[in-house]
Amino acid sequence: MIGGGQLAWLFGEAAHRAGYRFHVLTPDAISTATRAADSVTVAALDDVDAFVAFAGGVAALTIDTEHIGTEALAAAARLTRVWPAPEVIATTQSRILQREALAPAGLPLVPYLPVRSVKDLTGAMAEIGVPSILKSATEGYDGKGQVRLAGGESPDDAWRALGAHAAVLERFIPFAAEFSVIVARDASGNCVAYEPFENVHNEGILDHTAWPSRLDDRLAAEAVSIARGAAEALGVVGLLCVECFLLDDGTILINECAARPHNSGHLTIEAAEASQYDQLVRVLAGLPLASTRRLRAAAMANLVGGLHVESSRFIPSGDPDITLYDYGKSYVDRRKLGHLVAVHPSDPGAALARALGERAGIAARARSAASR
Ligand code: AMP
Repeated sequence: MIGGGQLAWLFGEAAHRAGYRFHVLTPDAISTATRAADSVTVAALDDVDAFVAFAGGVAALTIDTEHIGTEALAAAARLTRVWPAPEVIATTQSRILQREALAPAGLPLVPYLPVRSVKDLTGAMAEIGVPSILKSATEGYDGKGQVRLAGGESPDDAWRALGAHAAVLERFIPFAAEFSVIVARDASGNCVAYEPFENVHNEGILDHTAWPSRLDDRLAAEAVSIARGAAEALGVVGLLCVECFLLDDGTILINECAARPHNSGHLTIEAAEASQYDQLVRVLAGLPLASTRRLRAAAMANLVGGLHVESSRFIPSGDPDITLYDYGKSYVDRRKLGHLVAVHPSDPGAALARALGERAGIAARARSAASR
């Protein structure tokens, strides 16, 4: 695994359960995933020599972030299987390249224009109109690298505020709901998908997820077909999470894709026959894909510094229907420090109420412990 965050950690747990060893290359010697790793290589995520040495000792290699040097990945791919392929990662790490790969397949995208200069931005602002969002093409995540335009902003100021070399300007979508679909695709092109997850973001960061979503059967089937189409168009081997907006009139638009495990799929561990992490282990090992069938309803709530919790010391309630994941990170504002999953036999609304209640309880207990 290249990257040492919580996605890497949960992948490592699944790899261990399946009987494999789990090696991590990460810039941080002490990170969430290194707690569960059989070995740790400490290196920058663009260190070609370190990638080559690491690749020489592993049977297959994958990623938990797209912010990785593609030259280093390509060097690794000459020595071992790298899935998704370096070219796929290079495509998904740019909002421009990603959209240019999806559009020819006829997939529905948020209206956007690529922007590489103030001149481009001036033209794009006239064409896209307001409200709109200027997003840096690379390096942005969790709402970072974005400038919202409400009208009256000068292209010069907006371009300077973004501080990027390349960006997309896209229309602000007054969506009725947000959801994601996670697809697992193997090296032969076999593909399985989970039912859509319904997501709510706060300040650009995923706040909570409920499963199943409130999409009706027809929309859920359309969403899954769009996600499969995106996995094929991008040529993903591994996982693809397709994040979408649902409009009031039933239109579905793709916001962005990530070719790795995704925060919105954490709850597949508790609620599906096989989790997103199990699927990725199977793809890398060349094993048949497993069942994505949902066993129960579930909801996931993130524990983000400053948004939900004021410390990274979590005291759970003991509710047996809730699993708490503590990433073992020190407190930083806006950092994902943990998450929790609540399950219910059939009602995602009830699972969500339990998850949000538990999150409020964790925050309150931390506050009262701090004041003692
Ligand atoms: P992103 O970094 O593109 O995933 O954006 C993070 C979140 O910001 C999304 O999940 C939405 O909640 C919101 N957002 C991003 N782009 C748009 C858009 N074009 N219209 C409305 N909301 C958006």
